[in-house]
Amino acid sequence: MNIIIERFNKIKLNIFSCKPAHNVNIIAVSKTFPIEHINPLIEHGHQHFGENKVQEAVAKWSDINREKKNIKLHMIGKLQSNKAKDAVKLFNYIHSLDNQKLADTLAKYQVSLKKNLKYFIQVNIGNEMQKSGIPVNELDPFYNYCKNQINLNIIGLMIIPPNDNNPEKYFKSLNELNKSLALKDLSMGMSADYLKAVKHGSTFVRIGSSIFGLRS
Ligand SMILES: *Cc1c(COP(=O)(O)O)cnc(C)c1O
Repeated sequence: MNIIIERFNKIKLNIFSCKPAHNVNIIAVSKTFPIEHINPLIEHGHQHFGENKVQEAVAKWSDINREKKNIKLHMIGKLQSNKAKDAVKLFNYIHSLDNQKLADTLAKYQVSLKKNLKYFIQVNIGNEMQKSGIPVNELDPFYNYCKNQINLNIIGLMIIPPNDNNPEKYFKSLNELNKSLALKDLSMGMSADYLKAVKHGSTFVRIGSSIFGLRS
């Protein structure tokens, strides 16, 4: 069997053993890899793929997306407003909604392109200077604005936890924040910590290197 499928199946099994009754979606993060490398997993029937750059994603996925309607593409990287139009055209989910200008721009293109994406609000849970994301104390008003003023379909919160070897405490807090907003999905967990994220209620794990191998 193909090594990528083998690794993917192992991850699926690990998640199932961790939380049998819980539906967790695996986003196969294919950034930097050419489509030939990703193809086995597409042929295997997997639906959710993640990219972090709009231009790379457009070049890589536009044709496949037209052919295979079941594929769901996730934008997981920092999104600039000037790329919002292309992002709305290509992606089904955006995980990096992190400021009002971006939200307004996405809302505008959703209307003109007649699309309705699903969104995660990225939260800067550790209040880190260099990280993007909405600060926790601004989350409520930002969520209400996106939902009620500009009609974005916010399905949950997303984090990239601080790099301090203790992701669990951040996963736990994000799960609590998510519940306080009555949101049902949670985007957290990567190759190194996805089982911890699942333990704390993640419904979308974003896994790259453990499926596709190391990125150069
Ligand atoms: C690259 C990336 C991932 C996947 O990282 P791995 O450690 O390779 O699993 C997940 N989330 C985001 C936001 C990323 O940029």
